[in-house]
Amino acid sequence: MKAVVVNPESTGVEVVERDIPEIGHGEALVKVEYCGVCHTDLHVAHGDFGEVPGRILGHEGIGIVEKVGEGVTSLKPGDRVSIAWFFEGCGHCEYCTTGRETLCREVKNAGYSVDGGMSEYAVVTADYAVKVPEGLDPAQASSITCAGVTTYKALKEAGIAPGQWIAIFGAGGLGNLAIQYAKKVFNARVVAVDINPDKLELAKEVGADVTVNGKEVEDVAAYIQEKTGGCHATVVTAVSKVAFNQAVDCVRAGGTVVAVGLPSEYMDLSIVKTVLDGIRVVGSLVGTRKDLEEAFDFGAQGLVAPIVEKVPVDSAPQVFDEMEKGLIQGRKVLDFSL
Ligand SMILES: [Zn+2]
Ligand SMILES: [Zn+2]
Repeated sequence: MKAVVVNPESTGVEVVERDIPEIGHGEALVKVEYCGVCHTDLHVAHGDFGEVPGRILGHEGIGIVEKVGEGVTSLKPGDRVSIAWFFEGCGHCEYCTTGRETLCREVKNAGYSVDGGMSEYAVVTADYAVKVPEGLDPAQASSITCAGVTTYKALKEAGIAPGQWIAIFGAGGLGNLAIQYAKKVFNARVVAVDINPDKLELAKEVGADVTVNGKEVEDVAAYIQEKTGGCHATVVTAVSKVAFNQAVDCVRAGGTVVAVGLPSEYMDLSIVKTVLDGIRVVGSLVGTRKDLEEAFDFGAQGLVAPIVEKVPVDSAPQVFDEMEKGLIQGRKVLDFSL
């Protein structure tokens, strides 16, 4: 079978031929239909989290169960399932038993610590593979498996209520989905902030009430405060310290700042403002199986529609190259039928 793996030097990816994997107890073999290419894959390919040469990449996989191993009761052949970054938790630690399984210290991550979804066949732990509902386009589902659930979970963490204002910093792949979930699922009023006019135009199309170009507006936080009276919450998907600082300054007293983007910097957090205004700052990492099930369901209802472009598997090295150069708009999804 064809597989996209980290190259031996851990400098990028290559497409190789591998044997179809065997499944064991509790596992299922999935015939992969689609797998999205995410920035996290680029980090893995470059060894940013530790070098894993030969690892099959991909944590936005969608496919059909072909066969199940002994002891599997949750899946059957023919089911459509996802292969997500949260691949498997230990099942018994304090995080796994309190609805915070993504924080499990023994977690396995698809396409990093175990082989992922960028191959014609993939193995999943049956109890951890979330089913894709009827009516959801599988290529779009691949994007919900990572970007969708990440932003949906972040909005849950934001505690946003209908009619309240939320600012989404970064209107790219993640941000665009955050805007859609905020608007259509949470019924919030949305401010979208970016420095790219095309992304802001797209933000408006999917429902942003206010758009702010960080390059044109001098004081972004003051502008948002003036337009909204201060946001009740904000989700920062932008990979920029500037955006994090603006986010803290654009919320009203009692507001919540949810951190999702991962710039390797520190944010400036005023202790005085944090205390006197009762600001909450929280980090949010992907989502649990239940979060993903909900995120899929809103997609199946047609409330949220990721923008995806299908490309052949052999183009993976090129796609990774383009991603590194920041040339990709929307999401490229490897299509295993092409
Ligand atoms: Zn991802
Ligand atoms: Zn655990």
